[in-house]
Amino acid sequence: MTRILAIANQKGGVGKTTTAVNLAASLAATRRRVLLVDLDPQGNATMGAGVDKRELELSSCDVLLGEAAARDAILRTDPGGFDLLPGNEDLTTAEVRLINEFGRETRLRAALKDIAREYDYVLIDCPPSINMLTVNALTAATGVLIPMQCEYYALEGLSALVNTIEQIRSAVNPELQVEGLLRTMFDPRNNLANEVSSQLILHFGDKVFRTVIPRNIRLAEAPSFGMPALFHDKTSRGALAYLALAGEMIRRQASAEATPA
Ligand code: ADP
Ligand code: MG
Repeated sequence: MTRILAIANQKGGVGKTTTAVNLAASLAATRRRVLLVDLDPQGNATMGAGVDKRELELSSCDVLLGEAAARDAILRTDPGGFDLLPGNEDLTTAEVRLINEFGRETRLRAALKDIAREYDYVLIDCPPSINMLTVNALTAATGVLIPMQCEYYALEGLSALVNTIEQIRSAVNPELQVEGLLRTMFDPRNNLANEVSSQLILHFGDKVFRTVIPRNIRLAEAPSFGMPALFHDKTSRGALAYLALAGEMIRRQASAEATPA
Protein backbone atom coordinates (compact mmCIF):
# COMPACT_ATOMS: atom_id res chain seq x y z
CA MET A 1 0.00 0.00 0.00
CA THR A 2 1.26 3.46 -0.84
CA ARG A 3 2.32 5.57 2.10
CA ILE A 4 1.72 9.27 1.57
CA LEU A 5 3.69 11.22 4.14
CA ALA A 6 3.43 14.94 4.80
CA ILE A 7 6.71 16.21 6.21
CA ALA A 8 5.43 19.01 8.36
CA ASN A 9 6.30 21.38 11.18
CA GLN A 10 5.20 25.01 11.11
CA LYS A 11 8.59 25.97 12.45
CA GLY A 12 11.14 26.86 9.79
CA GLY A 13 14.66 25.50 9.75
CA VAL A 14 13.93 22.25 11.58
CA GLY A 15 15.05 19.95 8.75
CA LYS A 16 11.84 19.32 6.80
CA THR A 17 13.37 19.82 3.38
CA THR A 18 16.62 18.06 4.27
CA THR A 19 14.54 15.12 5.46
CA ALA A 20 12.30 15.16 2.39
CA VAL A 21 15.18 15.06 -0.10
CA ASN A 22 17.43 12.65 1.77
CA LEU A 23 14.68 10.28 2.80
CA ALA A 24 13.43 10.22 -0.80
CA ALA A 25 16.92 9.28 -2.00
CA SER A 26 17.38 6.68 0.74
CA LEU A 27 14.04 4.99 0.05
CA ALA A 28 14.86 5.01 -3.67
CA ALA A 29 18.27 3.47 -2.91
CA THR A 30 16.38 0.67 -1.13
CA ARG A 31 14.47 0.10 -4.39
CA ARG A 32 11.28 1.79 -3.31
CA ARG A 33 9.39 3.81 -5.87
CA VAL A 34 9.30 7.34 -4.52
CA LEU A 35 7.59 10.59 -5.47
CA LEU A 36 8.67 13.80 -3.74
CA VAL A 37 6.16 16.66 -3.86
CA ASP A 38 7.47 20.17 -3.24
CA LEU A 39 4.71 22.26 -1.65
CA ASP A 40 6.94 25.01 -0.26
CA PRO A 41 7.12 28.26 -2.29
CA GLN A 42 10.83 28.40 -1.39
CA GLY A 43 11.37 25.48 -3.76
CA ASN A 44 14.28 24.20 -1.68
CA ALA A 45 13.38 20.54 -2.13
CA THR A 46 13.23 21.10 -5.89
CA MET A 47 16.68 22.70 -5.96
CA GLY A 48 18.07 20.14 -3.51
CA ALA A 49 16.88 17.38 -5.84
CA GLY A 50 18.83 19.00 -8.68
CA VAL A 51 16.00 20.72 -10.55
CA ASP A 52 16.12 24.46 -11.27
CA LYS A 53 13.00 26.01 -9.73
CA ARG A 54 13.26 29.02 -12.07
CA GLU A 55 12.89 26.88 -15.17
CA LEU A 56 9.81 24.83 -14.47
CA GLU A 57 7.33 24.39 -17.28
CA LEU A 58 4.76 22.93 -14.92
CA SER A 59 4.79 22.78 -11.16
CA SER A 60 2.80 21.75 -8.11
CA CYS A 61 1.10 25.16 -8.37
CA ASP A 62 -0.47 24.24 -11.73
CA VAL A 63 -1.52 20.91 -10.30
CA LEU A 64 -3.18 22.43 -7.21
CA LEU A 65 -5.05 24.91 -9.37
CA GLY A 66 -6.26 22.12 -11.63
CA GLU A 67 -4.40 23.53 -14.62
CA ALA A 68 -2.16 20.51 -15.15
CA ALA A 69 -2.22 16.80 -14.37
CA ALA A 70 0.37 15.68 -11.81
CA ARG A 71 1.68 13.16 -14.32
CA ASP A 72 2.57 15.93 -16.76
CA ALA A 73 4.42 17.99 -14.17
CA ILE A 74 6.48 15.16 -12.67
CA LEU A 75 10.19 14.97 -13.46
CA ARG A 76 12.75 12.24 -12.86
CA THR A 77 15.66 13.29 -10.65
CA ASP A 78 19.23 12.36 -11.35
CA PRO A 79 21.18 11.05 -9.49
CA GLY A 80 18.41 10.88 -6.83
CA GLY A 81 16.49 8.02 -8.44
CA PHE A 82 13.09 9.36 -7.38
CA ASP A 83 10.35 11.34 -9.11
CA LEU A 84 9.69 14.98 -8.28
CA LEU A 85 6.62 17.15 -8.54
CA PRO A 86 8.55 20.41 -8.36
CA GLY A 87 7.50 23.68 -6.79
CA ASN A 88 8.53 27.32 -6.66
CA GLU A 89 7.25 30.72 -5.58
CA ASP A 90 4.20 30.36 -7.83
CA LEU A 91 2.83 28.31 -4.92
CA THR A 92 2.22 31.57 -3.08
CA THR A 93 -0.30 32.45 -5.79
CA ALA A 94 -1.87 29.02 -5.53
CA GLU A 95 -2.23 29.45 -1.78
CA VAL A 96 -4.09 32.74 -2.22
CA ARG A 97 -6.25 31.58 -5.12
CA LEU A 98 -7.26 28.34 -3.43
CA ILE A 99 -8.90 30.22 -0.56
CA ASN A 100 -11.86 31.06 -2.81
CA GLU A 101 -12.10 27.83 -4.70
CA PHE A 102 -14.35 24.86 -4.35
CA GLY A 103 -12.76 21.76 -2.82
CA ARG A 104 -9.75 23.78 -1.82
CA GLU A 105 -8.53 21.33 0.86
CA THR A 106 -8.69 18.27 -1.36
CA ARG A 107 -6.86 19.50 -4.46
CA LEU A 108 -3.66 17.59 -3.86
CA ARG A 109 -5.49 14.45 -2.77
CA ALA A 110 -7.52 14.51 -5.99
CA ALA A 111 -4.42 15.17 -8.08
CA LEU A 112 -2.53 12.24 -6.56
CA LYS A 113 -5.43 9.82 -6.75
CA ASP A 114 -4.53 8.30 -10.10
CA ILE A 115 -0.77 8.21 -9.71
CA ALA A 116 -0.13 7.42 -6.03
CA ARG A 117 -0.45 3.68 -6.63
CA GLU A 118 2.57 3.82 -8.92
CA TYR A 119 4.71 4.61 -5.88
CA ASP A 120 5.58 2.96 -2.58
CA TYR A 121 6.13 6.32 -0.91
CA VAL A 122 4.92 9.82 -1.68
CA LEU A 123 6.74 12.41 0.45
CA ILE A 124 5.35 15.94 0.65
CA ASP A 125 7.66 18.76 1.73
CA CYS A 126 5.47 21.35 3.49
CA PRO A 127 5.99 25.09 3.96
CA PRO A 128 6.87 26.41 7.44
CA SER A 129 3.31 27.42 8.32
CA ILE A 130 -0.11 25.88 8.72
CA ASN A 131 -1.71 27.33 5.61
CA MET A 132 -3.83 25.98 2.77
CA LEU A 133 -0.78 24.28 1.24
CA THR A 134 -0.08 22.37 4.45
CA VAL A 135 -3.78 21.57 4.78
CA ASN A 136 -3.69 20.10 1.27
CA ALA A 137 -0.70 17.97 2.24
CA LEU A 138 -2.37 16.75 5.44
CA THR A 139 -5.59 16.00 3.58
CA ALA A 140 -3.77 13.95 0.95
CA ALA A 141 -1.55 12.13 3.45
CA THR A 142 -1.84 8.82 5.23
CA GLY A 143 0.73 9.95 7.79
CA VAL A 144 2.66 12.94 9.08
CA LEU A 145 6.39 12.86 9.64
CA ILE A 146 7.41 15.63 12.02
CA PRO A 147 11.07 16.65 12.00
CA MET A 148 12.08 18.62 15.05
CA GLN A 149 15.09 20.06 16.76
CA CYS A 150 15.33 19.20 20.43
CA GLU A 151 15.21 22.79 21.67
CA TYR A 152 13.42 24.58 24.44
CA TYR A 153 10.30 25.64 22.50
CA ALA A 154 10.07 22.52 20.36
CA LEU A 155 7.36 20.81 22.41
CA GLU A 156 5.24 23.93 22.54
CA GLY A 157 5.12 24.22 18.75
CA LEU A 158 4.25 20.57 18.52
CA SER A 159 0.87 20.91 20.23
CA ALA A 160 -0.34 23.38 17.57
CA LEU A 161 0.60 20.90 14.87
CA VAL A 162 -0.98 17.98 16.69
CA ASN A 163 -4.20 20.02 17.05
CA THR A 164 -4.24 20.74 13.35
CA ILE A 165 -3.72 17.06 12.60
CA GLU A 166 -6.70 16.23 14.87
CA GLN A 167 -8.87 18.77 13.06
CA ILE A 168 -7.97 17.46 9.63
CA ARG A 169 -8.59 13.93 10.81
CA SER A 170 -12.09 14.66 12.04
CA ALA A 171 -13.02 16.95 9.13
CA VAL A 172 -11.65 15.37 5.97
CA ASN A 173 -9.10 12.63 6.53
CA PRO A 174 -10.00 10.04 9.20
CA GLU A 175 -7.06 7.84 8.16
CA LEU A 176 -4.42 10.43 9.02
CA GLN A 177 -1.85 9.29 11.56
CA VAL A 178 1.30 10.66 13.08
CA GLU A 179 3.87 8.51 11.31
CA GLY A 180 6.64 9.61 13.59
CA LEU A 181 8.68 12.36 15.18
CA LEU A 182 12.21 12.71 13.91
CA ARG A 183 14.94 14.28 15.98
CA THR A 184 17.10 16.35 13.62
CA MET A 185 20.41 18.20 13.90
CA PHE A 186 20.92 16.29 17.11
CA ASP A 187 23.96 16.91 19.27
CA PRO A 188 24.26 14.26 22.03
CA ARG A 189 26.69 16.46 23.96
CA ASN A 190 23.99 19.08 24.45
CA ASN A 191 22.21 18.57 27.79
CA LEU A 192 19.09 20.44 26.77
CA ALA A 193 18.80 18.36 23.59
CA ASN A 194 18.95 15.19 25.67
CA GLU A 195 16.38 16.50 28.11
CA VAL A 196 13.93 17.54 25.38
CA SER A 197 14.53 14.20 23.71
CA SER A 198 13.52 12.37 26.92
CA GLN A 199 10.40 14.53 27.22
CA LEU A 200 9.52 13.71 23.66
CA ILE A 201 9.76 9.97 24.30
CA LEU A 202 7.73 10.39 27.50
CA HIS A 203 4.91 12.10 25.58
CA PHE A 204 5.02 10.29 22.26
CA GLY A 205 6.59 6.92 23.07
CA ASP A 206 6.92 4.69 20.01
CA LYS A 207 6.01 7.57 17.73
CA VAL A 208 9.55 8.89 18.14
CA PHE A 209 11.80 7.33 15.53
CA ARG A 210 14.73 5.47 17.04
CA THR A 211 16.90 6.89 14.30
CA VAL A 212 18.36 10.26 15.19
CA ILE A 213 19.72 12.64 12.54
CA PRO A 214 23.00 14.17 13.72
CA ARG A 215 24.14 17.65 12.84
CA ASN A 216 26.33 16.97 9.83
CA ILE A 217 27.96 19.41 7.44
CA ARG A 218 27.48 17.13 4.42
CA LEU A 219 23.71 17.40 4.80
CA ALA A 220 23.97 21.18 4.80
CA GLU A 221 26.25 21.43 1.77
CA ALA A 222 24.70 18.74 -0.46
CA PRO A 223 21.90 21.08 -1.72
CA SER A 224 24.50 23.42 -3.21
CA PHE A 225 25.52 20.52 -5.44
CA GLY A 226 21.87 19.81 -6.28
CA MET A 227 22.00 16.29 -4.90
CA PRO A 228 21.06 14.30 -1.83
CA ALA A 229 23.89 13.68 0.66
CA LEU A 230 23.93 10.02 -0.39
CA PHE A 231 25.48 11.10 -3.70
CA HIS A 232 27.56 13.95 -2.34
CA ASP A 233 29.26 11.78 0.30
CA LYS A 234 27.73 8.38 0.80
CA THR A 235 29.83 7.58 3.86
CA SER A 236 28.88 10.75 5.73
CA ARG A 237 27.06 10.38 9.04
CA GLY A 238 24.19 12.39 7.62
CA ALA A 239 23.70 10.15 4.59
CA LEU A 240 23.94 7.03 6.76
CA ALA A 241 21.41 8.40 9.24
CA TYR A 242 18.82 8.92 6.50
CA LEU A 243 19.48 5.41 5.18
CA ALA A 244 18.87 4.14 8.70
CA LEU A 245 15.62 6.11 8.87
CA ALA A 246 14.46 4.58 5.59
CA GLY A 247 15.26 1.13 6.99
CA GLU A 248 13.38 1.85 10.21
CA MET A 249 10.31 3.03 8.29
CA ILE A 250 10.31 0.01 6.00
CA ARG A 251 10.63 -2.40 8.94
CA ARG A 252 7.89 -0.62 10.86
CA GLN A 253 5.56 -0.80 7.91
CA ALA A 254 6.34 -4.47 7.31
CA SER A 255 5.49 -5.36 10.92
CA ALA A 256 2.34 -3.19 10.85
CA GLU A 257 1.15 -5.01 7.72
CA ALA A 258 1.92 -8.41 9.29
CA THR A 259 -0.32 -7.67 12.29
CA PRO A 260 -3.74 -6.61 10.98
CA ALA A 261 -5.40 -3.93 13.12
P1 ADP B 1 13.13 23.40 6.89
O1 ADP B 1 12.79 22.79 5.58
O2 ADP B 1 12.39 22.80 8.05
O3 ADP B 1 13.02 24.89 6.88
P2 ADP B 1 15.87 22.69 6.23
O4 ADP B 1 15.86 21.25 5.91
O5 ADP B 1 15.88 23.63 5.07
O6 ADP B 1 14.67 23.05 7.21
O7 ADP B 1 17.10 22.95 7.18
C1 ADP B 1 17.43 24.27 7.65
C2 ADP B 1 18.93 24.48 7.53
O8 ADP B 1 19.63 23.55 8.34
C3 ADP B 1 19.44 24.26 6.11
O9 ADP B 1 20.47 25.16 5.86
C4 ADP B 1 19.97 22.83 6.14
O10 ADP B 1 21.00 22.63 5.20
C5 ADP B 1 20.47 22.72 7.55
N1 ADP B 1 20.35 21.35 8.07
C6 ADP B 1 19.23 20.59 8.12
N2 ADP B 1 19.47 19.40 8.71
C7 ADP B 1 20.80 19.41 9.05
C8 ADP B 1 21.67 18.49 9.73
N3 ADP B 1 21.22 17.31 10.17
N4 ADP B 1 22.95 18.84 9.92
C9 ADP B 1 23.40 20.04 9.50
N5 ADP B 1 22.65 20.96 8.87
C10 ADP B 1 21.36 20.66 8.65
MG1 MG C 1 11.95 23.65 3.87
